[in-house]
Amino acid sequence: MPRRCTVCAHLQRQDIDELLVSGAPYRSVAKRFGLSESAVYRHKTEHLPAHLLKARKAEEVAQADDLLDQVRHLQVHALDILERAEKAGNLRTALSAISQARGNLELLGKLAGQLDDRPQVNLLVSPEWLELRAVIIGALSPHPRAREAVLRAIEGAGDGNAS
Ligand SMILES: [Zn+2]
Repeated sequence: MPRRCTVCAHLQRQDIDELLVSGAPYRSVAKRFGLSESAVYRHKTEHLPAHLLKARKAEEVAQADDLLDQVRHLQVHALDILERAEKAGNLRTALSAISQARGNLELLGKLAGQLDDRPQVNLLVSPEWLELRAVIIGALSPHPRAREAVLRAIEGAGDGNAS
């Protein structure tokens, strides 16, 4: 039966880990937290690396989440501009907002794909994209030729030969 690690079970484990990472001698750490030297030594060599790895992964996920939030913010702005440009009949601005929104969606898809515990996002069937696509087609309905050109550009962009 494995012995329970008194350091892992310690309420101040995080402080202890930080001290050990910063190179504090395990003797002084043991003394400071009322632990046995052998327990601290064993913890440092056997458990600390796993703790650090876990912490790093959590931090990476948090960072990716933060980026996702920022891109989502940009997306809300782009769609807002698109809506206003549409109302004002400003086709040029609307097109630029569409292209921004599309770039945001691609970025969102890539970011989401980077997080292991999330399913891969297929942009072409994502609800955001289908919604945006409907908005684009609706916005351009008074301009059939522009609509056709935009649709062609959107369909062709996936092959990387959009102009
Ligand atoms: Zn431990």
